[in-house]
Amino acid sequence: MVRLAVMPELPEVETIARGLARRVNGEVIETVWLGSKPEPLKSSASEIVATLESKRIAGVRRVGKHIVFDLENGGQASSPVRKRSVRPSRARAKTPTSTKAQWIVHLGMTGRMLVCQADAEVEKHTHAIAKLSSGRELRFVDPRRFGRLSVAHGFQAAGSEPLEVELDRFVSLFRDRKTPIKSALLNQKLLSGVGNIYADESLFRAGIRPRRRAASLKREALRRLYPAVREVLKEAIALGGSSISDYVDSDGEEGFFQLQHRVYGREGEPCLVCKTPIRRVVIAGRSSHYCPKCQK
Ligand SMILES: [Zn+2]
Repeated sequence: MVRLAVMPELPEVETIARGLARRVNGEVIETVWLGSKPEPLKSSASEIVATLESKRIAGVRRVGKHIVFDLENGGQASSPVRKRSVRPSRARAKTPTSTKAQWIVHLGMTGRMLVCQADAEVEKHTHAIAKLSSGRELRFVDPRRFGRLSVAHGFQAAGSEPLEVELDRFVSLFRDRKTPIKSALLNQKLLSGVGNIYADESLFRAGIRPRRRAASLKREALRRLYPAVREVLKEAIALGGSSISDYVDSDGEEGFFQLQHRVYGREGEPCLVCKTPIRRVVIAGRSSHYCPKCQK
């Protein structure tokens, strides 16, 4: 296992969402504080505050690479003393009458969700603090500010969920695509949440070169790719679930561990199957790794 120093991908987000669910399911968000940096806010500050405050967290799940908090009414009245720095909203905030609202967090490169005691020191680069009914706080920390916070009603990812999509649908996603299969795998409008590392690993397991045009792949090749994508993601989730469960604790150092890569990041090293040196090419600006012998 190796330490990951890149953007969290689907398996990491799944693990984080499960960890958060264990810690905050059933909690009521009493008040919300948002920082003054505009980048992390994809919805307006007033809309985020109005949607979150006094809501109960009914569940936390992963959708694509997003963490989704399902919110429901039925929270206690919020405290009259509010610690906020809400900027004027661009548009009038919607009144949160729906009982099916969601708080959506995208971690970007360096975003983290911490569950901590209220007296824990507030880290630098904290952009949001949700005060919970238990007295704990849920904090969003993001030094590089590529992460995004938003609220929605009936949120859905643009693409199909790779762990739920059926084989026929999977095959049809790629059938007419003239782009390299690697680019098609990364296209979030087709499959939601497959990132660079897992795309390379899936293509290796399926024996498909990353530069192959998706439309040129025979059905049989796509039928190999389908389980490969699912296996890679499931193995990584299984591993992540046991090794990064402390990620969201206040004292939790980032501890992303993941499956041993067979091709990703192994340029020049021998293929684990045939010993041919792994090659690296750049496709649509992203590094792609493959074995020239095992992948056709
Ligand atoms: Zn090989």
